[in-house]
Amino acid sequence: MVLAQLGGSISRALQQMSNATIIDEKVLNDCLNEITRALLQSDVQFKLVRDMQTNIKKIVNLDDLAAGHNKRKIIQQAIFNELCKILDPGKPSFTPKKGKTSVVMFVGLQGSGKTTTCTKYAYYHQKKGWKPALVCADTFRAGAFDQLKQNATKAKIPFYGSYTESDPVRIAVEGVETFKKENCDLIIVDTSGRHKQEAALFEEMRQVSEAIKPDLVIFVMDSSIGQAAFDQAQAFKQSVAVGAVIVTKMDGHAKGGGALSAVAATKSPVIFIGTGEHMDEFEVFDVKPFVSRLLGMGDWSGFMDKIQEVVPMDQQPELLQKLSEGNFTLRIMYEQFQNIIKMGPIGQVFSMLPGFSAELMPKGSEKESQAKLKRYMTMMDSMTNEELDSSNPKLMNESRIMRIARGSGRLVREVMEMMEEYKRLAKIWSKMKGLKIPKKGEMSALSRNMNA
Ligand code: GDP
Repeated sequence: MVLAQLGGSISRALQQMSNATIIDEKVLNDCLNEITRALLQSDVQFKLVRDMQTNIKKIVNLDDLAAGHNKRKIIQQAIFNELCKILDPGKPSFTPKKGKTSVVMFVGLQGSGKTTTCTKYAYYHQKKGWKPALVCADTFRAGAFDQLKQNATKAKIPFYGSYTESDPVRIAVEGVETFKKENCDLIIVDTSGRHKQEAALFEEMRQVSEAIKPDLVIFVMDSSIGQAAFDQAQAFKQSVAVGAVIVTKMDGHAKGGGALSAVAATKSPVIFIGTGEHMDEFEVFDVKPFVSRLLGMGDWSGFMDKIQEVVPMDQQPELLQKLSEGNFTLRIMYEQFQNIIKMGPIGQVFSMLPGFSAELMPKGSEKESQAKLKRYMTMMDSMTNEELDSSNPKLMNESRIMRIARGSGRLVREVMEMMEEYKRLAKIWSKMKGLKIPKKGEMSALSRNMNA
């Protein structure tokens, strides 16, 4: 089950519960069983799921909930907290500091995306002003050095490796020494992965680690690894001091629940996720927004961050002002569509908004979603200023709709469909009304507000 489906299943289970007239033990149990099933199908480890269920039952005492309390919200919050607890080991990982040499070692199974992720990690930090360097200590896989070299060259990151040396410890040490002399502040060492867990792999990894004494060991895990995630992650943790996890291929049809299990196994946080094969398909991982998205609660902080990244600085206050007025006109919708198209992976942006579940804008259908937005924008190009600036959908009577359809060369049905979309969005936006406009750094507070 892909994560979007997991989110959908959990939201549905919660919805069904809130449709019930009375929330009694049976209704709560049905809901929790449904959620348990969804989590297990997503490859979250059985024990974690069972513990979570027990904890929720302990927290949500139906008898204690005063009448009139929104039980659904309380239960949703309990599930939210429990999932966050699984994903947050309670201690942050080591963070490299700019200007001070840090050595980061990457470990993982072959094919997990380790080499690709090394470059993504280097590239991410390079963009933020670091001086990274890559060392290929994978002497097992033929072509590993070429792959790293190719990636590094593309990203203009210095690299070190050898076609002839077969001792990974030696290469690792030489590489680290070389880049220390060159004052690189982030030295990334890629190590071998094997098909299966082999004693030799773990021994080699241990030796490399002992020789270079990394400040951080990152365990790279393919999100499709499934129920094996817990054991795999634990095996790595037992050989080297894993301090952080990166989960790759979150863009695919993999079951992402293994990520939760890996955190539990390594007691180390997920710090990034890989969302594609390209260098920049790499995202910082934050527990709360992630779980929020998973539960279909939306991720306002992520959305606002994206806005800050993409909307030109001088237009931000105006946009945030408009949002906080909750007065959602067609013109604002038009501007938002423009922003969203600029923001890139559309499914990703949409899934951050409550109401735009990933099911509605499924991954893999980005092209269609983009085309739809562009179609809507063509129709809005045929609207008058009065229509664009009104937040009263009643203004759009039959004759106006027919005129817009004619003007844009689209069907009346399509204009009506767009108006439905507008009404739905306006409803979501109205939730923003009266909200304090966040200053930078206050995004999470806003997120909490919206999710409350
Ligand atoms: P390694 O053997 O662990 O070093 O794995 P590689 O870095 O060679 O990656 C194996 C394959 O996974 C390659 O085809 C990568 O392009 C692909 N890959 C790595 N990360 C991601 C990701 O986040 N998403 C997708 N879709 N593919 C990825």
